Amino acid sequence: MTNLVEVRSLKKHFRLPGGWLSGNVRFVYAVDGIDLSIAYGETFGLVGESGCGKTTLGRMILRLIEPTEGTIVFDKQDITSIDKRKMKSLRRQMQIVFQNPLSSLSPRFRVEQIVAEPLMTHGVLEKDEIRPRIIELLEQVGLGAQHLDRFPHEMSGGQCQRVAVARALALNPKLIVLDEPTSALDVSVQAQIINLLDELKKSLGLTYLFISHDLNVVQHISDRIGVMYLGKLVELGDAQDVFDEPLHPYTQALFGAIPMPVVDDTLELKILEGNVPSPVNPPSGCRFHTRCPIAQHICQETEPALREVRSGRHVACHFVE
Ligand code: SF4
Repeated sequence: MTNLVEVRSLKKHFRLPGGWLSGNVRFVYAVDGIDLSIAYGETFGLVGESGCGKTTLGRMILRLIEPTEGTIVFDKQDITSIDKRKMKSLRRQMQIVFQNPLSSLSPRFRVEQIVAEPLMTHGVLEKDEIRPRIIELLEQVGLGAQHLDRFPHEMSGGQCQRVAVARALALNPKLIVLDEPTSALDVSVQAQIINLLDELKKSLGLTYLFISHDLNVVQHISDRIGVMYLGKLVELGDAQDVFDEPLHPYTQALFGAIPMPVVDDTLELKILEGNVPSPVNPPSGCRFHTRCPIAQHICQETEPALREVRSGRHVACHFVE
């Protein structure tokens, strides 16, 4: 399968303010050496607790955040250090939908202006072609011409997120990064947005990077998933396989913490204990060793590599076997 996105050894270290005079410059190791690929037409789900680096990774792939190290290849082109002018034209092909639709849509603009903005910025249509294209986009996301004159505050959260999706589709992108696209919505609306995204992906041949802490949603929509912990990928594989049989102790603990609608007493629920350590001073060796129920001495000293333990399945743990 050919890849639309390939990242190699990608890192983002944010420098904390101060420390120059004392010689104690400190960094947040938000993303710390990620290798992953996303195939054309794939939905890749990225999961992990808050602060694990998944949003930073998604934004780096779009070059909204500059990487500290590593490479990003998009559609067979190395985009790690291309200049702003080239990046502007590439941006048509890569879009993002944010978590909170109300804050990501300008409150002063009507829907028509919001969806028109990327079309105008990139000058891809004649003036008289813009309105019909906006209506077409609104219809693709389950809205219509009757919404053109509305302001965001005159619509529901679900309708606002549909407008954000319409805007993301305006330039016929190849990749859309969906950054917690349903977590600000009511549960009843979440399923509608997920189904819409799934339908659009199939009908328009899109590729998604779907970032979420909601494991049920990720399981529903993803082809493959990656599990992140403290800036590292700890498990990667086919979504159903990972959900059916998580292999890394962190994935097992994370999935054990999903609220189950039906109590199944054959399942051993493993609730994660303790807080995530600080990404400013991550633990030595395996970063999960301070919370891992099966940690051994080697785990404190030697970092486990993310290695293929069965076909298409990668796990970073010394004791996965
Ligand atoms: Fe746990 Fe050690 Fe495996 Fe890390 S390497 S997940 S600490 S057993």
